[in-house]
Amino acid sequence: MPLPGFVDVQAAAGRLRGHAHRTPVLRSATADARAGASLFFKCENFQRMGAFKFRGAFNAIARLSPAQQRAGVVTFSSGNHAQAIALAARELGVSATIVMPSDAPAAKLAATRGYGGEIVTHDRFTEDREALAQRIARERGATLIPPYDHADVIAGQGTAALELFEEVGPLDALFVCLGGGGLLAGCALAAQAMAPDCAVYGVEPEAGDDGLQSLRAGRIVTIAVPTTIADGAMTTHLGELTFPIIRERVRDILTVDDADLVQAMRFFAERMKMVVEPTGCLAAAGAFAAAPRWHGRRVGVIVSGGNVDLAAWAGWIGAG
Ligand SMILES: *Cc1c(COP(=O)(O)O)cnc(C)c1O
Repeated sequence: MPLPGFVDVQAAAGRLRGHAHRTPVLRSATADARAGASLFFKCENFQRMGAFKFRGAFNAIARLSPAQQRAGVVTFSSGNHAQAIALAARELGVSATIVMPSDAPAAKLAATRGYGGEIVTHDRFTEDREALAQRIARERGATLIPPYDHADVIAGQGTAALELFEEVGPLDALFVCLGGGGLLAGCALAAQAMAPDCAVYGVEPEAGDDGLQSLRAGRIVTIAVPTTIADGAMTTHLGELTFPIIRERVRDILTVDDADLVQAMRFFAERMKMVVEPTGCLAAAGAFAAAPRWHGRRVGVIVSGGNVDLAAWAGWIGAG
């Protein structure tokens, strides 16, 4: 599969019009004061199904031929991509089968079922979810749509940054949450075309720093399944498509720990009145940590999602 480019992000934006929300860009005087910079939060926690992943999923399914759409789609996911595929498939009249870890947050399992997806569970520590999804796709003649390593998924995710630059103009830096790299790669494509001087950073969990290791090694490094509250970034490696785009267009990768994520989650709840899931806090936590370097500058932050078990969320924001 060839690497996607900015034209693919633009085409995805056209396909998403009228289907995805154009999410708000929110400001916070308190955040600006704390960072010493002007922060622009692109709030994908307000996207349909609660995360940016609707963008890539819808774009990928919309691009299938009518025959492929009739045969259905299959995917594997730790949560949000599952909901995104289920919702996008339903909207396009396509059937969806989703391989999900049996220990995925209850809210995510329930939401995926609620959107009409058929769920097949697996044990994330012992079973290869990708192989299982591939087998199901083969048996049913369905199309496998992976969560990040797919040109149409990457292009779709990039529309989040495209909208941000359209709305606020050029930025000096952009911080993006990093799991498998679909969001980061897509946003980097948009940034390079729309704000060539913008430094793009990926932010991943300290416990799962395979992206950072890969950038340093110049090849895709695979790690063991990391333990972190950022369940949407428990990926073990970047993709064959996301890695080359990230290597070429991303300035650097930063890491934050779970305590940083909890602090950002509490900040969003208390000061911006928003529910943001742990993974959705990665970019903000990274931006706050890197803020001294961007003093007085314009900084974008992708808030990637808000799907979280409310009891867990209450525990995190209530502690300390
Ligand atoms: C999937 C996800 C990420 C990571 O996205 P990748 O494209 O895998 O890098 C970040 N935040 C949220 C909320 C997600 O659902």
